[in-house]
Amino acid sequence: MAQVQMDSVLKRSVRGPLLQLVTAAIVLIIVLVQAGMLAKLREDRRIEAQRSAENVLRTLALTIDRNLRLIEFSIASVRDALALPEIEAVPPAARHALLLSRATAPQYLGSLLVLDAAGDIVLDSGSVTPRRANFADRDYFRAHRDADAGTFLSHPYASRLRQNDPSIGMTVRVSAADGGFGGVVLGAIRLAFFKALFEKIDLGPDSIVSLVNADGVMVYRHPSTDGAGNTGQSVAHSPVFQRLLADPTAPITGTSQIDGVSRFYVSEKIGDFPLILSVGISASGIYSEWNARALIVGLLTLVVCSLLVGIVLVLRRALIHSYDMEEQLEHMAVTDALTQIPNRRALEMALDTEMRRAAREKTELSVLVIDLDFFKQINDTYGHSAGDAMLRSVGRQVTRAIRRPGDFAARLGGEEFVVILPSTGPAGATFMAERIRKAIAATHVATEDGRRVNATASIGVASGRIETSDPVDRLLHEADGALYKAKGGGRNRVVGSHQDDGFAAAQ
Ligand code: GH3
Ligand code: MG
Ligand code: MG
Repeated sequence: MAQVQMDSVLKRSVRGPLLQLVTAAIVLIIVLVQAGMLAKLREDRRIEAQRSAENVLRTLALTIDRNLRLIEFSIASVRDALALPEIEAVPPAARHALLLSRATAPQYLGSLLVLDAAGDIVLDSGSVTPRRANFADRDYFRAHRDADAGTFLSHPYASRLRQNDPSIGMTVRVSAADGGFGGVVLGAIRLAFFKALFEKIDLGPDSIVSLVNADGVMVYRHPSTDGAGNTGQSVAHSPVFQRLLADPTAPITGTSQIDGVSRFYVSEKIGDFPLILSVGISASGIYSEWNARALIVGLLTLVVCSLLVGIVLVLRRALIHSYDMEEQLEHMAVTDALTQIPNRRALEMALDTEMRRAAREKTELSVLVIDLDFFKQINDTYGHSAGDAMLRSVGRQVTRAIRRPGDFAARLGGEEFVVILPSTGPAGATFMAERIRKAIAATHVATEDGRRVNATASIGVASGRIETSDPVDRLLHEADGALYKAKGGGRNRVVGSHQDDGFAAAQ
């Protein structure tokens, strides 16, 4: 019984939407798990990239800061020494050696100059006799002349003394004896310093390192788009720089104004200097490996899910087909092919059930056996197909005549039909038998040559209460006996099993 229930639950699940829903849920779970895994991998990759970018950034910023401080220290020392009254008395060569020779120790310090209030060189690290040049036009000179600018970092420029070597100047103000402007001490920093430093960094394709001053003027960028560090190019209005100015330490993702590449940037200010160092890793560089993996995982997931859905759909179709076949076979096994009403096998099962039920519930049970009269003659006279049509018609009449739930009609075989009437006594059974007899007698069927024929039926009726010990075919047997009497009594009549031969119930 449990097995049968399981089977029907299974069949309903397969036919209904449950199987599709379960499959869709499984596909959804697979997709969600894969997507979650990929998202986690992507985030891990970003964190890893950020960490290595920050390490590079910190090291570079520290190196640059140290070097700039060293230069700041050098020019401040020169300025302080110049303020000593004794320095005027020292001969030029000795003064040169004293003030400038050691001050030029820092690498990439292009030259160290002292300019007077007119912008002319008065002390030159490159020559004991100062070279002749005037720098009154430089931004650092103007800045100190107009105000005390502290330690000033200039915009990049091409050096006039060193064959246009790209440089930035770091300057401090020299005060005259009266406290007014007395000139500047200049340390020229070669941009080759940043070039050498940045070139060593490799953070993958499309990654960049850039040093920008606080005005948004590029000092040096590697790799550059102009082959010269993009020095002097303004990025002041680029969204990336605007966000950098707002918070130089916050990592940002943005598109470079210089080359249009989308990058992930980490940045830091160089000590107290107005310079911002950025390391940018291209989004495609960070995620190229992840993209490839996501593509493979995505395709595999698609294939797996498609296969799953495909297999489920094919299996479902096959299962439904086999269920249909099974049901058809089951139907055929209990259905008479000619009349399409239940057959002898179905009758035996129904009789068994109803006999046991009547015995258990102590109710009456009736059985009618219906046999067409002289049917052989009809076959012989009008042909088999007319006979078949007649049988089909009788099947319909008998089925139509029974009304109550539990009433059952079947073709026993040949031109014999049986009706089972549960909870029905002799009177009810005889009434039903009469109704069937009259219905059959009143029905005509057409022969192949267009004639209309009809037949009559004799019906044997058996009714009674059933004992558990009764053979299953007791009533059938008794009804068959009554039918025999009906035939003997002249046919086209109903006879009860307890009637004498001479008493026909009805004519
Ligand atoms: P009775 O009044 O005594 O019942 O006479 P009868 O001719 O009806 O009885 P009998 O048992 O001698 O003949 C039954 C006939 O039913 C034999 C056969 O020609 C016919 N028959 C049985 N099965 C079928 C069927 O499936 N189709 C057709 N057309 N005829 C059938
Ligand atoms: Mg017969
Ligand atoms: Mg007959």
